[in-house]
Amino acid sequence: MVSRTIPVDPFDLVIIGGTGDLARRKILPALFRRFCAGQMGEGSQVIGAARTEMDTSAYRTMVEEAIAEFGGDEKSSKAKLKKFIALISYVTLDAKGDTGWDELAEAVKSEHVRAFYFSVGPNLFGDLAKRLQKHGMADDLCRIVVEKPFGRDLESARELNKVLARHFDESQIYRIDHYLGKETVQNLMAVRFGNMLFEPLWNSQYVDHIQITVAESVGVGGRGGYYDRSGAMRDMVQNHLMQLFCLIAMEPPAKFDPDSVRDEKLKVIRALDPVTPDNIVRGQYEATETKPSYRKQVENRDSNTESFVALKANISNWRWAGTPFYLRTGKRLRERASEITVIFKDAPHSIFEEDSGRHRNILTIKLQPNEGIVLDVTIKEPGPGGMRLIDVPLDMTFAEALGPDQAEFPDAYERLIMDVIRGNQTLFMRGDEVEAAWAWTDPIIADFERGDPPLAYATGSSGPDEALALIHRDGRAWREIKA
Ligand code: NAP
Repeated sequence: MVSRTIPVDPFDLVIIGGTGDLARRKILPALFRRFCAGQMGEGSQVIGAARTEMDTSAYRTMVEEAIAEFGGDEKSSKAKLKKFIALISYVTLDAKGDTGWDELAEAVKSEHVRAFYFSVGPNLFGDLAKRLQKHGMADDLCRIVVEKPFGRDLESARELNKVLARHFDESQIYRIDHYLGKETVQNLMAVRFGNMLFEPLWNSQYVDHIQITVAESVGVGGRGGYYDRSGAMRDMVQNHLMQLFCLIAMEPPAKFDPDSVRDEKLKVIRALDPVTPDNIVRGQYEATETKPSYRKQVENRDSNTESFVALKANISNWRWAGTPFYLRTGKRLRERASEITVIFKDAPHSIFEEDSGRHRNILTIKLQPNEGIVLDVTIKEPGPGGMRLIDVPLDMTFAEALGPDQAEFPDAYERLIMDVIRGNQTLFMRGDEVEAAWAWTDPIIADFERGDPPLAYATGSSGPDEALALIHRDGRAWREIKA
């Protein structure tokens, strides 16, 4: 099988914050890979913009270095790199002042789609929106891409939505959550809604519980200052885990179009029960012999910010009442591993007398490090020893099932940037969705602020012991965190 590349009309992409970490690590390498795949048609251009004074030639050198460091396999293609670099220019621009705006307006005068990627802190979104309009760039051809964090609570998210809405229609605003750009996340929808097999069982009658784990093995690294003001609940649960949750739990949309899908996701968030303090555990990692503790890393001896959170959530609707969702995420855990697991109920009666084990169908959707889907099914253990049952995985990991060519899919940023250019908002969060997610998260964070400090946990563990107890007390167990 050969993967298909759908052509895209020429476009202008302006990366505001084009010298920053996100631009260098993710956006520029992603664009290069799309260029190599033939998706940046002749006439397309990429413009980096930031306050740092430099000319296009110096910026091109910076882009080459970024691609050499973060470009993946494609970086070795010198001829392609040269052509890609020729599409790049730089404008010195200040979001808060007049510098550079006329020059930018002149550079994007074509009749192409113009996407402005706000790769800067959210405190600048309002200034950018206002100046894009003032300088005549906020017309119908314009789209803006905004990064997380989209607010730090309901009030600030509402304020951001309001500011952007003054200058742009909702259909022009692309709130990015790169988890939604993962191949497997979309495949989750294909598995649910493209097969007859799963959907009839996708409810509390047949599903015992669902687990969502996003585990990182690294600590906060150089992002300590930002992270300490945010914590796992704001940085991961409110956005990434909540989005995965919605896709697993939502009703089938009538169509696979942006508003049908987002309407269904919104209904899930609105049906979530509040999480009481006894259904949530938060933690903070301790030092090892060689690695500093969380507090040391964020340079805040008294920090009560959580680097780990585990919680039990319930959805009050016909489909899910009685099926708990256990979510956990944290840093410095045993492995870097993210997965969603759907644990089906036991068969109501075992006809096999010799079998004393417990057998359950388990569907695992693996998001990282390797994307894929595995279904555990029960079969007879081969051999003459009677009717002994074993569970074996039906492995749908893409590289195995589809062959290496087809398993080479674009990374999340590649897909999402191309969706912006195509004008497809399905995999982007709508303003009301983000607000609903904050409305659910805010009381949890308020409880954190009133409650006890986070519990200590060892680096390389699965989080605090209390997180194990959170699920054990329901007679269930977390899945092992393994890559
Ligand atoms: P960063 O490394 O600090 O880069 C910020 C960029 O903004 C720089 O290019 C900076 O360049 C530019 N900038 C700052 N003030 C400006 C102004 N007044 N006018 C124009 N440009 C200005 O930050 P980052 O890590 O790239 O993150 C950017 C945004 O993405 C943040 O909101 C962050 O939370 C979000 N994000 C980042 C990541 C990541 O992996 N890095 C992941 C998810 C979300 P000058 O100083 O030259 O102006």
